[in-house]
Amino acid sequence: MNIEIVAVGSELLSTRFADTNSLYLTERLSDLGLSVARRTIVGDQGPDLEVSLRQALAFADLVLVGGGLGPTGDDRTRESAAAALGRRLVFRSDLAAGIEARFQKLGRPMSEPNLRQAWIVEGAEVLPNANGTAPGQWIEADGKILALLPGPPHELNGVFESGVWPRLKARSFQHASRLMIRTTGLGESDLEARIADLYPADERRRLTVLASPGRVDLHITAVSPESAEQAAALAEALAAALRDRLGTFIYGGEGADLEAVVVGLLADAGATLATAESCTGGLVAHRLTNVPGSSRVFLGGFVAYGNAAKARDLGVEPALIAAEGAVSPAVALAMASGARSRMEADWGLALTGIAGPGGGSPDKPVGLVYIALAGPDGVAVERHVFPGRREAVKFQASQRALDRLRRRLAGIA
Ligand code: AMP
Ligand code: MG
Repeated sequence: MNIEIVAVGSELLSTRFADTNSLYLTERLSDLGLSVARRTIVGDQGPDLEVSLRQALAFADLVLVGGGLGPTGDDRTRESAAAALGRRLVFRSDLAAGIEARFQKLGRPMSEPNLRQAWIVEGAEVLPNANGTAPGQWIEADGKILALLPGPPHELNGVFESGVWPRLKARSFQHASRLMIRTTGLGESDLEARIADLYPADERRRLTVLASPGRVDLHITAVSPESAEQAAALAEALAAALRDRLGTFIYGGEGADLEAVVVGLLADAGATLATAESCTGGLVAHRLTNVPGSSRVFLGGFVAYGNAAKARDLGVEPALIAAEGAVSPAVALAMASGARSRMEADWGLALTGIAGPGGGSPDKPVGLVYIALAGPDGVAVERHVFPGRREAVKFQASQRALDRLRRRLAGIA
């Protein structure tokens, strides 16, 4: 089944408003195992909407339209849908009475334009809107379905859930289940090489790999004609095989944050942490403090950007900095030990590197970052070279530092 979403509103074509309704609809459709084939955003001017709806009805079997059902002159979804289908609009006095009653209940006078919302496309089923005055409409024509939904997000959500979802569910022959796995520490192609043979060959399952700096997410979707349980079992079987392959590179599932995982591990261990950051400028501390309850385990951090701060705040010997350079394994180790001892923490985590775009040299290229960890059982340092621009280097460095600690706390090599 081909699905198209049409988002209506000139404001959605500006830089100020994002089409979030389509994301919501896409997400909910995927819960039914349905994927969207095309998405259109169209303004309120002239015949644009009617043209878009004609094209959508030619292309898709199901067209979901959001917006343009309000009372104002630029709300022309009703008229455009009727024209695209070659049908009339009909006035429903019961809807008009409902709109009037709604205003009475609020103690407000109803102005004439509100009655525009009582017109529906001939033959449409009305989808009640508990959160507003404009009802949705469900129209079937020549084997196609056209659903009109109000634009305000809470109204669209409500009408979709009560009117559209049950109708789609009743005719969908599939149950769907989704799972997500989040990994860090493996690049996209390294990860791909490990799991290449696990891509499902059958139509019932789909695996999508989405990479972003410092992280690769795996999305699994499974559908079953028989039951939700079978769909879940299919998804889980694939997830289990992937977990087996990717092992400790996995730090969580849907919605998991690496910083929250680290805070959880520190709390479980009853351990505390201090940070010393040069090139990341406090990003690691920022991410840790985004986690509610992190004050139990995160004692504080130093942003020791200049050499003087490294010496004064962390006790790094100026002679060491002069001899090795600020970006060096020895200085990273001294920073980690300094943070740990000055804060009296169980763990000290330090980063020093070259975020770029300038400052690189053949033996110390842009993206070079040393990450050191000082703990109850000694100190260790890692060398990394991260690709990308300044902010990407900083984020990847923070991600790797957090992952370094995750691995130590979880007892992973
Ligand atoms: P309308 O039904 O076109 O009058 O839209 C009513 C309100 O909903 C306006 O504030 C719109 O900006 C908002 N809205 C309409 N479509 C969307 C969309 N696709 N995503 C987010 N907000 C929307
Ligand atoms: Mg609008």
